[in-house]
Amino acid sequence: MKKIAVLTSGGDAPGMNAALRAVTRSALWHGASVVGVEQGYEGLIDGRFVALDARSVGSIIHRGGTMLRTARSERFRTPEGREQALQALKKEGVDGLVVIGGDGSFRGAHALCEAGFPTIGVPATIDNDLYGTDMTIGCDTALNTALDAVRRLRDTASSHDRLFIVEVMGRDSGYIALHTAIAGGAEIAVVPERPLLPSAICDQLKESRRRGKSYSLVVVAEGAMSGHALADALSDCGAFEARVTVLGYIQRGGSPSAYDAALATQLGSHAVDLLFEGKRDLMAGLVAGKLTDTPFPETWQKQKELKVELLDLVSRMGI
Ligand code: ADP
Repeated sequence: MKKIAVLTSGGDAPGMNAALRAVTRSALWHGASVVGVEQGYEGLIDGRFVALDARSVGSIIHRGGTMLRTARSERFRTPEGREQALQALKKEGVDGLVVIGGDGSFRGAHALCEAGFPTIGVPATIDNDLYGTDMTIGCDTALNTALDAVRRLRDTASSHDRLFIVEVMGRDSGYIALHTAIAGGAEIAVVPERPLLPSAICDQLKESRRRGKSYSLVVVAEGAMSGHALADALSDCGAFEARVTVLGYIQRGGSPSAYDAALATQLGSHAVDLLFEGKRDLMAGLVAGKLTDTPFPETWQKQKELKVELLDLVSRMGI
């Protein structure tokens, strides 16, 4: 491995820059040279490489977003697009690729491996929906952003005797919703893994009122139900007047938390070590404190279990 390429792909996540820095400096440590690819697979197809050295990834560890920028590429989904990307890698003299992204990006990376090109993945997505790592890069920061919002909304909810419904990100995973609910002291978490009927939520809210609560907080994952749909369904409930806050893209931005900056550094470096060990077609991960590697297809085929006992904890704390 004399030359490594690195790219960020799919949805951005806080900590992608810290991962880019780690990949670059680890590859330099191994004695290889490094090129970054602009705008994910789109830039790869067009051969948009930029040389990276230790200084060019300086002062980015704390920045949100990604300095290489990211993209979704329809062309890369086609065999012709991937062939162009492989030709570009060959022309640039690249021996191995690190892809920083989520499950879609890893499907693309797996296709490159099947065509014979050594590729390793670094999991970066705020949803924490990949099997093979306890946490994905960006999730902890998003969780802290959502928690900050819930704490602010609590002030208003308590001043007006209201129900605040907070919609957080999570298409297939309720991780952010569940942990925001626990840490923020919300009464109910609505997650895609265990759908709740609005009538059951209404019963719970009425029961809270009966027990003397003067306001309520409900956190809902976008993949379970939209916050506005839940408010509509609760309009006849007669518990509290509802207000909805959709956090949306706010959760994607900001400086990575200490956890995410450290995780990104460990996983970026581990991905490069894996490439130098001759491994490929794997995602770097951290499971129970140990660095791991998981075959790409398992990362999206196997289900990362949500700890449903934590939903029971939300109920227990919500009395
Ligand atoms: P994420 O990596 O955040 O899940 P996407 O699902 O948008 O983001 O995937 C990022 C990119 O990965 C896509 O725009 C596409 O170029 C590529 N990709 C996704 N799925 C595949 C696939 N099955 N085969 C080849 N490339 C894919």
